[in-house]
Amino acid sequence: MSTPDTLDLRKEAPPVTKEKPVKKFVFAFKEGDGKNKQLLGGKGANLCEMTQIGLNVPPGFVISTEACLSYLANANHSLPGGVLTQVTEHMQEIEKATGKIFGDPKNPLLVSVRSGSALSMPGMMDTILNLGLNQQTLKGLIAQTGNERFCYDAYRRFIQLFGKVALSVPDEKFEKIFEDVKRKAGVKLDIGLSTENLREISERFLLVVKEYTGQPFPADVFQQLEIAIKAVFNSWMGKRAIDYRREFNITPQMANGTAVNVVAMVFGNMGNDSATGVAFTRDPGTGENIFFGEYLVNAQGEDVVAGIRTPKAVLQLTEEMPDLYRQLEELRDKLESHYKEVQDFEFTIEKGVLYCLQTRNGKMNATAMVRTSVEMAKEKLISKTEALLRLKPEMLEQLLHPRLDSFHKSEPLAQGLPASPGAASGQCVFDADRAELLGRSGHKVILVREETKPEDIHGFFASQGILTSRGGKTSHAAVVARGMGKPCVAGAEGIHVDVKLRQAKIGERTLHEGDYITIDGGTGYVYQGVIPTVEPTFSDELKTLLQWADEVAQLKVMANADTPESAQKALSYGAMGIGLCRTERMFNAPDRLPIVVEMILANTEEERLTALNQLLPIQKQDFKEILTVMAPRPVTVRLLDPPIHEFLPTEDELREELVHLRHLKDTASGVTNLFNSLRLLHAYDEHTKAELPFNEKGVELIDQAIVKKELMLKKVHDLFEVNPMLGHRGVRLGLTYPEIYKMQIQAILEAAAECQKAKVDVRPEIMVPQVCNAEELRQVRAYVDEIKQKIEKENGIKLTFKFGTMIEVVRACVTADELAKEVEFFSFGTNDLTQATFSFSREDAENKFLPLYAEKNILHDNPFEILDTNGVGKLMRFAVEWGRKTTPELKVGICGEHGGQPDSIRFCHQLGLTYVSCSGPRVPVARLAAAHAKLGESKNSSL
Ligand code: PEP
Ligand code: MG
Repeated sequence: MSTPDTLDLRKEAPPVTKEKPVKKFVFAFKEGDGKNKQLLGGKGANLCEMTQIGLNVPPGFVISTEACLSYLANANHSLPGGVLTQVTEHMQEIEKATGKIFGDPKNPLLVSVRSGSALSMPGMMDTILNLGLNQQTLKGLIAQTGNERFCYDAYRRFIQLFGKVALSVPDEKFEKIFEDVKRKAGVKLDIGLSTENLREISERFLLVVKEYTGQPFPADVFQQLEIAIKAVFNSWMGKRAIDYRREFNITPQMANGTAVNVVAMVFGNMGNDSATGVAFTRDPGTGENIFFGEYLVNAQGEDVVAGIRTPKAVLQLTEEMPDLYRQLEELRDKLESHYKEVQDFEFTIEKGVLYCLQTRNGKMNATAMVRTSVEMAKEKLISKTEALLRLKPEMLEQLLHPRLDSFHKSEPLAQGLPASPGAASGQCVFDADRAELLGRSGHKVILVREETKPEDIHGFFASQGILTSRGGKTSHAAVVARGMGKPCVAGAEGIHVDVKLRQAKIGERTLHEGDYITIDGGTGYVYQGVIPTVEPTFSDELKTLLQWADEVAQLKVMANADTPESAQKALSYGAMGIGLCRTERMFNAPDRLPIVVEMILANTEEERLTALNQLLPIQKQDFKEILTVMAPRPVTVRLLDPPIHEFLPTEDELREELVHLRHLKDTASGVTNLFNSLRLLHAYDEHTKAELPFNEKGVELIDQAIVKKELMLKKVHDLFEVNPMLGHRGVRLGLTYPEIYKMQIQAILEAAAECQKAKVDVRPEIMVPQVCNAEELRQVRAYVDEIKQKIEKENGIKLTFKFGTMIEVVRACVTADELAKEVEFFSFGTNDLTQATFSFSREDAENKFLPLYAEKNILHDNPFEILDTNGVGKLMRFAVEWGRKTTPELKVGICGEHGGQPDSIRFCHQLGLTYVSCSGPRVPVARLAAAHAKLGESKNSSL
């Protein structure tokens, strides 16, 4: 380990010459810029800021992320020049402030070495506590504190953390010794261990390190410090941190490298006048404005976060340490009014003195984010704009998580703490690797652990929810699950997990891997089996927030809905109309499909009309209901789009059915013959009556079915297309079989006429799919005009409706000026337009080569999910500009899947679209995204 740069820094610090100014890598808390999180990391910047606003933070300094990046870039793994000198200087500052000396055997200073990048990544990187202890300073600490037990406790923690993090000694080696001593001493809780026990643990830990690394545990405190700094820097490139950044799309622009915070140690485990805790300025589960936190008396911070002991609610401190509780409340108020954001902070009470060890913006679930946004704006802590911008639109999707059906009768198996809301069912798994394995193979799993650790993160990603038997609402499991929006029940103490046997015992019951359970993160209950769930309802706060969003947004938000029920639902999500009603979905209902099949099988126009006349009243009724539900909002009905073979079974299905029918016919004929023979033999009586299909009538029916299926098979052959998605569909179909489109137009306009006559203010819009040529539109328009005139005449009214086209073909984009002359609106069908622009089949690309394209960085995003602004977007821009050149008042929207995706919505706003349309549950997301797009206008003027 000993290079010239690692010797005792106090002696070796090279002089800084004037000619070669050395970069500043180290910043004291008193001087660092609290706003510069990129340079100092979130934790470091906040420690600087808190120090500078007068909060009681232990003295310390930050080593910048720049130092981390140049260290990681350096092939021989030495810290950049100047870092160690600056560290030494700043250590001297801490010594001055605390009156203790680093490495001094009489009056030792101990420090913590903590990671912290620009974005909070809870538990993903490493931290070392109590650094500066060795056999000599340990004696000094004992003399200083007069508390031998505490000192050995600090020592064993340091050896374990340093050994694990900095020297890569497997944690199990330490845990085994720890458990062994506990068992021998007959104690259950760590605080039951005596000084002697802790001394034994420390000594055995030192031996483990020596055995594992082949070297004695480093005694030189400066060497300890240097190794620790490097270990924290290295943890930025550790698997856990890399996985986390990948999962949450944390780019180098958002966070690049970790800073290191070196802070004078304060101890929450110095006796019963000491404590340590974690708190939120508001409840992170519900958002309620109440002080929310947990603490442990006589413990170190890691005990709370790791969930090793179950902590007490912060309110209990009013009884145990009333004065400190008051100070803590003061701290809470100061933090929130300074940061104007809910804070998640760590505190330690050392012998009656309160210290704030870190603060960061509280990670909350969507429910809490919405409530705090609205309440903080009402309290005038933040503006309405800030309230809207606080929430990422995607977060609102969490609010659409299902809850358990309150009518279920199941008795809970166990109860823990409701640590992250939402309900989930799945198969139990007891370690993160199994969760990943089963999760990846398509199983829904619940990760059940005694407690979770950061290295379990891949198991979280693969699970529907998390259940732990130890730890509180601020334990690792709870914090991470909340951040991910996954349900979590923590600290369900009745559950005893046995990872080796892959089972858990709850009282008499045993849960094996693969058994189904349901957890309710809202109540903390755990149930056996799968319990039905119900859709969530909108809170008043969410309604308020989205109302503020609508006031700001320029884009209107419509829903894609095909039935009166889904229209009603979309309305409850705040849809301002229906942007896409796919009429073919109305054809698929079981009572309608046979009529649709008749229509397809028809050989003549007359036969087709017979079937269509049956469909007409059914479609009309649907339209009437949808128009009425949405009145007076617009409802855009798209005329039939898919190739008609989609309503028929596949060739394989039909062949199989025919084989069965022919077998059945043989059997039925055989049985019928048998009954006839029995009759001849006078062996037939009432009890042996032949039921259908085992009689002549049955055989006849089977024959008819065979004829029908053969006809269908022939039709399937006739309709066969190599490339159906580019084939006989949309307007092409409508022009080949005008009677289909005419029936639909008649159904829409008659429905509108009846509504108008009943004084319901309805706004139908007729939309033609797959158009590539203005003449197609003129010909469909001619059907519309003819039907309109007839209905107006029959009803003596003037119909009000719009006529428009989808834009989902490349030619439609580049001839938009011509198309616009024929219509009042355009609606981008970006599912097909993406397919057409890339020439990627929308049916197959996502399963075939898109994952590889993402992996190889050929395409950063899946273009069917996130609008390809560079390609598809350019075509859209042409279409909008050219379309509005000929028809300035042209209404333009989008109804492909991208209409509910926030980045794509921002782009649509920039293009000047009138509306976006998306599936019902995404409407709230789109409303907020539309507001964000408007509010971010000045930032996004690049278009
Ligand atoms: C589209 O193509 O974007 C669209 C909305 O139509 P569909 O997905 O029904 O083809
Ligand atoms: Mg389409």
